[in-house]
Amino acid sequence: MAVAEISTLESIREKVEANERLGFEDGLALMESDDVLALGELADLARRVRGGGDEVYFVQNLYLNQTNVCRVKCKFCAFATTRKQPDAYTLTPGELVDDALRQREATGFTEIHMVNGENPHVGFDFYVDTIRLLHEAMPDVHLKCYTASEIHHMTTLSGLSHEEVLRELQAAGLGSLPGGGAEVFADRVRRLVAPGKEHPDVWFHVHDTAHRLGIPTHCTMLYGHVETYEERVDHLLRLREQQDRSGGFLAFIPLAFHPENTVFERRGWRHTTGSDDLKVIAVSRLLLDNVPNVKASWIMMGMPLAAVALHFGANDVQGTVVREEIFHAAGARTETEQKIEELVRFVQEAGRIPVQRDTLYRELRRW
Ligand code: SF4
Repeated sequence: MAVAEISTLESIREKVEANERLGFEDGLALMESDDVLALGELADLARRVRGGGDEVYFVQNLYLNQTNVCRVKCKFCAFATTRKQPDAYTLTPGELVDDALRQREATGFTEIHMVNGENPHVGFDFYVDTIRLLHEAMPDVHLKCYTASEIHHMTTLSGLSHEEVLRELQAAGLGSLPGGGAEVFADRVRRLVAPGKEHPDVWFHVHDTAHRLGIPTHCTMLYGHVETYEERVDHLLRLREQQDRSGGFLAFIPLAFHPENTVFERRGWRHTTGSDDLKVIAVSRLLLDNVPNVKASWIMMGMPLAAVALHFGANDVQGTVVREEIFHAAGARTETEQKIEELVRFVQEAGRIPVQRDTLYRELRRW
């Protein structure tokens, strides 16, 4: 290891021990470091210095995708179709609720996580009716639905503002927003991977508006494609600034890019490495000093690596997912229904305390 790197990591350690905020150059030094174990140790230290305990959270949730028809055509996406393709589907609100009720008989989920394609062939009433019917059928289930991009899509369908759309959905029973659609905020990256998607300022405006309305949200970064380390750090710091302003992010979820069935697979792209996944978890925890929870998504990483990530700053292992299609369309091979006992065992073997939570991180059960 170069002498310069040692001193940089040491100066970062001093800041972490003093609970001082890290800057852009610190973030870049961390991203550029090959000493992944040191990053993990620093991130775990940061988590504890900021009051984190041994609890590791998970939620029982049902993943739903009501339509895969999408007008946007992001290059990293293996899920979207056009209406004319044979595998295109769009469930009516009634069909979706019936499906969710059938799933509920099999599992006691407390949360529905739903994201969709941006279907240009439905109206805003499609979304409001869906939320209202889901909420009426399962009033005790938290509805975490629609990315900022989908909320923005609803404004183009309805002519309403972000605030008006969110207010209507909130009145119908919406509980929170997932964090998707953020990708990587840098303009250069957006042009390359998601040229059809709205400007990142829109993503921030939707989340800012949601927070002001009392709707908590989540934030993400889809990494491991064309972005540089600088662009990752820039992305994380923009999230941190937003959290300073509005404070409504419940958790940060780093999403590793899966190239299968996308244009990137044809170009010979590979998965992110385990060490890059751990690095992103660690640096996220170190930079996002105001976001309380960092998730290691076992859907994307697999449970063994997610368990290691618990020593790299993560304190959440996503959940017991009843069904998930988007990352599996892009080749994720993990089991789509992870049994609670198995999650509990993984967390305990990592030396931590498994806690089942609701969406708002209220404790439901601990082992
Ligand atoms: S990532 Fe979302 S917005 Fe982009 S093409 Fe896929 S479904 Fe559409």
